Amino acid sequence: MPANRVVQGRMVTPHSLAELIEDDDVMEAETIEDADRECPDCGGDVVSVGYMPSVTEYVTGYKCQECDWRETDR
Ligand SMILES: [Zn+2]
Repeated sequence: MPANRVVQGRMVTPHSLAELIEDDDVMEAETIEDADRECPDCGGDVVSVGYMPSVTEYVTGYKCQECDWRETDR
């Protein structure tokens, strides 16, 4: 599986995808994976990425590849 993925027509790295979901800087991001779910808004494919917005927090973020929908497991 390639490290970079296309989200809303743009190539994203794990780090840039995490920042897109968080809408802020993140410290670390892991590999982008296919989430086993569909976007509730448009039915598109959802990808997930684990990341650390700060040294004390680990979050799994979800992002639709087709629309603006995003979510975290907070
Ligand atoms: Zn969507």
